[in-house]
Amino acid sequence: MRGITKIMRIGVGVAMAVAVAAMLTVVVTPVGDAGGSAPGMVAGAPDDGAGSSLSATGTEFVSASGGASPAGISSAWIADRLADASKALASLNGAEGGAALVRTVVGGKPLFCDTPSRIVDDRLLIPVRPVAEAFGLKVEWDDASKKAMISSEAASAVFKIGSRAALIDGVRAELPVAPALVGDAALAPAAIIAAFAEVEWDADGRVVSVGGAPPETDEARGGAGPIRVLMYHEIGDGPSTLFVREREFEAQMRFLYENGYDVISMDDALKVLKGEKSVKNGVVITFDDGYASFFGSAWGVLKKYGFPATVYAISASVGSEGKYLSWDEMRFLEANWMDVGSHSASHSSLSDMDAGELAKEIGGSKAAIESETDYPCNHFCYPGGFYSDAAVAAVREAGYESAVTIRSGKADASSDIYRLPRLFIRRGVSEERFAKILRTGIT
Ligand SMILES: [Zn+2]
Repeated sequence: MRGITKIMRIGVGVAMAVAVAAMLTVVVTPVGDAGGSAPGMVAGAPDDGAGSSLSATGTEFVSASGGASPAGISSAWIADRLADASKALASLNGAEGGAALVRTVVGGKPLFCDTPSRIVDDRLLIPVRPVAEAFGLKVEWDDASKKAMISSEAASAVFKIGSRAALIDGVRAELPVAPALVGDAALAPAAIIAAFAEVEWDADGRVVSVGGAPPETDEARGGAGPIRVLMYHEIGDGPSTLFVREREFEAQMRFLYENGYDVISMDDALKVLKGEKSVKNGVVITFDDGYASFFGSAWGVLKKYGFPATVYAISASVGSEGKYLSWDEMRFLEANWMDVGSHSASHSSLSDMDAGELAKEIGGSKAAIESETDYPCNHFCYPGGFYSDAAVAAVREAGYESAVTIRSGKADASSDIYRLPRLFIRRGVSEERFAKILRTGIT
């Protein structure tokens, strides 16, 4: 199905509003207990057998931080358990690799998350913690039984990892898909999240929105300014000035954050350049080549500041030599508001290629990236900065919406969007110099 779908909460019209206090004393048998077999239950779930009960008794929910009352907020527990990004990534690269990850907006803000929302059996699973934090929901968890209870003053839901049986507002319900643990993060079906906030699925943009649409960035910003497209390669230590030290990169991102720069996606930058949107101090962050080191360095910093970025991948090199990001990692990045653009198929100079070769490098890499990530690949980066008029024409004809060069300068309304200038950030750039580059557009 295409377009926007509003996801309805389960039990609408039949569920009574059960207060949390009352809920804590309710014991309910699971769906299917009465009939022997358990429709909707997932085979192999630890204690879904006849005779077990999905219980909402307060004593089952023990705060892992210790000492808190059974009904106490355990978001601290969740924060502790989910803090370890490397664990989540390890699980992503293992069993979870290949999951259909999708972008999430929570409370109007793009979500940067180690366990992104995903599609399982054609149904959406949404990470619980960011939703709970955004809407002040109480979350309690029993580690032994893998059961969770989410509650607000108006609604409650009890569910169990791996089981489609749930209680929504104290009423038994069969979920369309079982909740899951990814790493240490609990993901709940959209049907559960919809008990607490409006959930919408935009199939075209592959974005699930919880509690409202993303904010427009063109509200009273004070006019369309030039866009500074920053060019990075690798973040970390390395043999050349292409390697920007992690502490330098962190300081540069903090500088942008603290000094009123609007870090926007390349898509939004194009809208600004076309006069459809305005920002005051627009910055786009780009990374050439798609190095594997991105995860160990740049990603954590971008996530911290909530900055989108574009990673230009060499499609034929993805995942090779341990040097380049894998497709799994690309999918993860797309779900976290990073755009994967194309840096050609082979990173050869395009300047002397004939039409057939150009089609392979430019159109072929676009098709490969789109088929692997499921997100559109709209942005191109000329390898080595080399291009010809024929290459520019081929980029346009392949359906790209922009292309970046290594020519220095700021982009503005007069720029050719298929020959956009960038600001090359090399290792050793001081904060003072970084500020000057942003201001002047001269590197
Ligand atoms: Zn390159």
